[in-house]
Formats: sequence, structure tokens, C-alpha cells
Amino acid sequence: MHLTVPSLRARLVLVTCLAYVVVGLTTLAISYQSQETNLRTQLEVRARGDARILAVGAVDNLLTGNIPTLRVLVSSFQSAQGVSYAAVMTGDGRVVASTRAGEIGRRMRRPLATQAHTVKLAGGDIEGVAPIVQSTDLGTALVVLSGSSINQDLQTALTLDVLVRLIGLAIFAILSLVIATLIVGPVARLAQAARDLQHGRLSSRVPMGGGSELSTLADTFNSMAASLEERIRHLSFLASASPSLPALLRDGDNLASVLAEFCAQVRAGGAGLLPLQGPELPALWYESPTGSECWDEAVRGLLGTSTQAVTVPVPGEMVFVAVPVEGAFTEEEQQLIRSFAYAVGVAAENARLFESQQEALQVKDQFLSIVSHELRTPLTAIKGYAQMLHKLLADDPVGRRFADTIDAQTNRLSRIVDDLLDVTRFARAQFELTRKHMDLRPVLTDIVARYEMLTPNYHVVLRLDDEPLEGVWDQERLEQVLNNLISNAIKYSEPHTTVTVMARKERSELVVSVQDQGMGIPPEEQGQLFERFYRGSVDGKTVKGLGLGLYVTRRIVEAHGGTIGVRSVPGEGSTFHFTLPLARRAGSVGVETARSAT
Ligand code: ADP
Repeated sequence: MHLTVPSLRARLVLVTCLAYVVVGLTTLAISYQSQETNLRTQLEVRARGDARILAVGAVDNLLTGNIPTLRVLVSSFQSAQGVSYAAVMTGDGRVVASTRAGEIGRRMRRPLATQAHTVKLAGGDIEGVAPIVQSTDLGTALVVLSGSSINQDLQTALTLDVLVRLIGLAIFAILSLVIATLIVGPVARLAQAARDLQHGRLSSRVPMGGGSELSTLADTFNSMAASLEERIRHLSFLASASPSLPALLRDGDNLASVLAEFCAQVRAGGAGLLPLQGPELPALWYESPTGSECWDEAVRGLLGTSTQAVTVPVPGEMVFVAVPVEGAFTEEEQQLIRSFAYAVGVAAENARLFESQQEALQVKDQFLSIVSHELRTPLTAIKGYAQMLHKLLADDPVGRRFADTIDAQTNRLSRIVDDLLDVTRFARAQFELTRKHMDLRPVLTDIVARYEMLTPNYHVVLRLDDEPLEGVWDQERLEQVLNNLISNAIKYSEPHTTVTVMARKERSELVVSVQDQGMGIPPEEQGQLFERFYRGSVDGKTVKGLGLGLYVTRRIVEAHGGTIGVRSVPGEGSTFHFTLPLARRAGSVGVETARSAT
């Protein structure tokens, strides 16, 4: 069975009212008892008194034998309130006068009364008995008072008493409700605040003033809630700050900005945890060549005795947080700060590594740029001489073939150098497009015709709609894109297969695709093809290449505002497709620098 526990206030009212009822009933019973005893005593006194009066009145009548007068006297008692019976009997026990006519002359078996007394009769009646004495005992006077009057009086008194007590109970209940509210109100507020804390509303406090025990309890509760709130804020800050550090490092390009950002976070989220002041960067970061443990001492010396420092050594560095001594941390808090500071140290170490890696990358890009530039001039000269040799050796077919080979290999080397130069341009955001209004149709026709001539073992076909394919693009760069895609299609296909070049308009875009019947690309590699220096696993060793062609192609397409992708089935062939925006705003013709991400 499920019992619902009433509220504290209801319980208080119930208990006090119950106590009132128990006390009320007990006192009612006692008062009833004493009232009854009182009434009975009064009745006995009266019965004795009435019997005495009858005895005194009967003396003369008995002495003179005036029985009729005696009987009048006896019957006069009957009219008195509460008297149910009165009689006089002589010394020999004979009834000479009685309120019950049938009794006269009868003898009663009762001794003469020697003194006035009472006798309790059945039904609660009281009989008063008094001796009739004049030198000698003349007889006995009897008066019976009815007990029913007592019961009536008691009934009335009891009803009145119960009524008064019920009114008292009602007043008492109201009063106890008021008192219970006064007592329970603050306790209820405390309970509400505790419930708030339980449900995560940490800023909940108990509003209470004065110097009572309850307000002391409220003060204690409030300070406990405040410290709990602070601890939870610190913990959640620690929990949230640590995972955010790697994110900072991904974006940050140098250590100073990472630390500045981190310190800003500490200020915003960890206020109180690390009491940092002043507009300048807090002294969160120190370098120690030794990383020795005596840094604790050194830091204390540096900051003065009013400051306590928690130091954490990390490889090659020292991270520490400083707090005033008055606000010294507990062991547990120090532990937390240590782990937090350790995370900072590790993050900073990563930032440092990231920085040096960036520097190394910069050196590499510079190197590539210089070497490519330096190679370009001699390559142009070699190419020029190879072509001159080709003309000079008009009658020497073997010598001409050698000259052609030199020319072809120089072309290949030139393309590699060009790709390398482009890569360094992208890295330094120095890549530029020279856009002009142009039609891609003749460009496609020329390129396809050239490949048909140069690679007679392959069928290179062009499929175009009749309409012009116009846009504002960089012709030279688009030729480079098409060259890369068509030469790849040939490079990664068997002879006597077909390479199809297509172009069609789709809404505001031009879609160009190069389809081959070659070896295809495994699905897991397709996502990485357009990355720098990526080379596929299939035939990557037999087919020569640097893995830069598709990277440069993507960057050129993206610089035009287009996208590039591939659909491929291993063993069946691949289709590379890219888009170019057809419409361009007026005035956009000219040179522009591409700054898209790597
Ligand atoms: P490279 O050809 O110099 O290796 P690319 O950037 O042009 O570099 O190509 C990257 C990789 O993509 C190649 O190594 C190759 O595995 C794959 N690939 C490119 N084009 C094709 C194609 N048409 N068919 C199959 N694989 C291709």
C-alpha cells in the first residue's frame, strides 16, 4: 500500500491538535468526575439538612400527639424541588407521617438514627436521615432527594464544557497553523533551495535574515551552495577548456596567438579558478630550460610570499598558475589545476611543434620555388636547341629521332617544373588567373585534334552540342586542365581504347568531362586523388608521375568558381568532370589572385 506522507506543516498542525484533543478529553473526564462528586456532596448536605428541618418541625407534634399537623408538614416537603419522599417514624419504627399514604401505620425495620446522615439509594437517590430528639429519642425523620437532577445538571455542564472545548480546538488549530507556517516557512524555503540544487539550478539561494537558528542554517546552506556552484563552474570549465585546446591549435598559426586565446578563455570561463588581473596577458607561461622541481621555490620568490603557486613541469617548459595565499586551493583543487595546467602545457608544446612544422613547410616551398625558377631557364634553352637540332638534322633520321626525344623529355620536365611552380604559388597565395571572354569550343577542338595526332594508338573523340560555349575564363589555365585530364586518360588506359571529351551547358554552368576505358580507380582512393602529391596504388609504380596534376587541376577549376569530381569503376574506366560558371558579372575581366584553401 502506498502511503503519502503529509507535509511538515500539516503534520505539525495534526500533532498539536491531537495533543489538544487528548488533553481536552482527559481534563473533561476529570472535570466530569469532580463535578459529579460535588453535586452529590451538595445533595447529601441538602438531604441531611432537609431531614434535620423535618426532625425539628416534628418534635412538638410528636410530643403533643398532633399527628395531622405532622402529616401536613411532611406533605409540605413533597412540594420542595427534588424531594421524592419524606416520612417520620416513631421510636418503635412505626410510620406516623409519609408522603406515600399507604405507608402510614406500617412498621419499618430500621433502627433509630442517632445522628444525621445520608444513605445512597438505588438509582442515585439520596436519603437524608435525622433523629427526632427532645430529652429522649422520639423518632426519625426521612427525606429522599431524587438523584436524576444530578444527572441533568451534569449533562448540561458536560454539553457546555464540550462546546467550549470544541471552540477552543478550532482556535487552537488556527493558531497552530499560523505557528506551523512561521516555523515551516523557512524550512520549506530551505527544502526548495536544496531541490533547486539537486536539479542543477546552482544559483538558487535561501533569502533569510535575522539571527535565529534557522537563519544561521540558511547562511550555512547559502555558503555551501555558493562553494558548490563555484566548484561545479570550475569543473565544467576544466572539462570544456581541455578539449577546446586542440581546436585552438588547429586554427592557430603561432604559439602567441594560441596562448592569448587560451588566456582569454581562462578569463571568461575560469574566473575565480585562476584569479588573473590586469589587461596584459597573465603570467601563465614560463620557460624553464631545466624543468627542475625547484621552480616552485623560484616562482614563489618571483611573486612574493603572498602568492601560492602550483607549478606543472611539461617537457622543456613550465606552466604554472598563481593564486593569493588567502584563497589557497585545497589538495583536490590543486590536483585539478595540475591536470588542467598539464593539458595547457601539452597543448602549448603541440603549438610549438606546429609552429616549427609551419616554418619547415615554408622553407620547403621557398626551396621548390627557387629550384623551379632556376630549372625553367635552362629547360627553355634545351628545348630551343632540340628544335634547332631537329631542323639541322633534316637528312639524318636517327639524329632527328634523338632530337625529338630530347624535345619530348624536355616538355615532360617543363610540365613537372610548371606544376611545382604552381604548387608554390598556391602555397603563397600568389596564383593568378587572367580571365577573358572566350569560347571553349575551338580550344577543345584544337586540343583533341592535337592528341589524335600525337597519340595515334588512342581514339580521342570530341562530343559537343552546336551552341557556343562562352564564358569569362583563363584560356591558358583551362588548356592546362584539359591537358592534365586527357593525358591522364591516355596514361592510365590501354592502347586502342577511346577517350571521349564532352562539354554541355547545364543551367548556369558548363560541364566538361573526360571519359576513358582505362584501369579505373578503387573507390577508397577516389576521395584523395585531388590532394597534393597523391599517387594511386594501381600501376602507380609503372606509370611515371609526381601526383601533382590533379591537385593543380582542382585548384585551377576552383579558382574559376567551379567544382571537380570523378566517377570510376575499377577495370571499366573513369570519367573526370568539372564545371565552370557560364555567367560572370560585368567588370570581372582581368587578373585575380586565387586564395582558396589547400
Ligand atoms: P600523376 O598522374 O602524376 O600520378 P595526378 O595528380 O595526375 O598525378 O593523378 C593522381 C593519381 O590519380 C594517379 O597516380 C592515378 O593513380 C590516378 N589517376 C588520375 N587519372 C586517372 C585515370 N584517368 N584513370 C585512372 N587513374 C587515374
